[in-house]
Amino acid sequence: MQAVTVMPGTADSARLDDVPEPGAHLGSVVVEALAVGVCGTHAEIAGGLYGWAPPGEERLILGHESLGRVIDPGPTGLEVGEHVVGIVRRPDPVPCPSCAVGEWDMCSNGRYTERGIKEAHGFMSERWRIEPEFVVRVDKGLGVLGVLLEPTTVVAKAWDHILAIGQRTFWDPHTVLVVGAGPIGLLAALIGVQRGGDVHVLDQVTGGPKPALVEDLGATYHTGSVADLGFSPDIVVECTGVATLIHHAAETVAPGGIVCLTGVGPPSTIGHASTLATDAVLNNLVLFGSVNANRRHYYRAAKALARADRSWLGQLITRRVSP
Ligand code: BGC
Repeated sequence: MQAVTVMPGTADSARLDDVPEPGAHLGSVVVEALAVGVCGTHAEIAGGLYGWAPPGEERLILGHESLGRVIDPGPTGLEVGEHVVGIVRRPDPVPCPSCAVGEWDMCSNGRYTERGIKEAHGFMSERWRIEPEFVVRVDKGLGVLGVLLEPTTVVAKAWDHILAIGQRTFWDPHTVLVVGAGPIGLLAALIGVQRGGDVHVLDQVTGGPKPALVEDLGATYHTGSVADLGFSPDIVVECTGVATLIHHAAETVAPGGIVCLTGVGPPSTIGHASTLATDAVLNNLVLFGSVNANRRHYYRAAKALARADRSWLGQLITRRVSP
């Protein structure tokens, strides 16, 4: 069968390859691929900056944003033809306390693996296999939009943690600022609106589909600098990883606020840790990072997608390429 593979650590090594059918050791559920999403992490892996092949192998099958049709359900109770998505991360082998309780997204020893990213083949192949406990059923009515489930899990987790952290004290948040209107930012805004927040999205572009996508959610689109917003958000979901924007978020968020970082950006010497510390200490801020998702977040993400307008979701898929 064919698959898109890369040699991790080597730039521009991505190619369409002939690879063996997936081995039974990868799981008893056999799935035919319908679509695979491509995000910034793929660009980093293809650029040789991130990613690890499975032990003893040179190349990694890419793809962690999956959508497929069940060919052989194994012992799952799924039916042939149902649409499914594969969970990305696998617990570490020790396992650490977090992995032991199914919170592999919080793995504390770094020995987790990730399909298509870290030491485990991904889903960018004609067929893939998966273990019953890591397959998630998706509403067939979503069609190809089911491929948005995995990126939605990333922001579903971020929101879960924002609200959990908010329990540290009395807190009545209302305004939300999302920085960056890429797919992750827009999905973060979607969940913010669904949770009843007054959501604002900041991006640098004035044209293209982003302003209307934000307005269609009932949120407010802004360009320019964080400082010019004219209000102090209670929650910031930072989706760019750009150091200056992270500093501006910490300066602007309301006292007692929470800044959630979901993006990784280029290394930077901009900004001083001491001013960040002053902002954080004097205003009781929480700045935290959020990565990956566990099964609970797949459940919440599926609910968020089910409530969303399908033509709106369709616009998050900016380009489609057929093999
Ligand atoms: C994926 C996550 C993964 C992270 C770090 C993201 O693109 O969506 O599942 O944990 O990259 O590897």
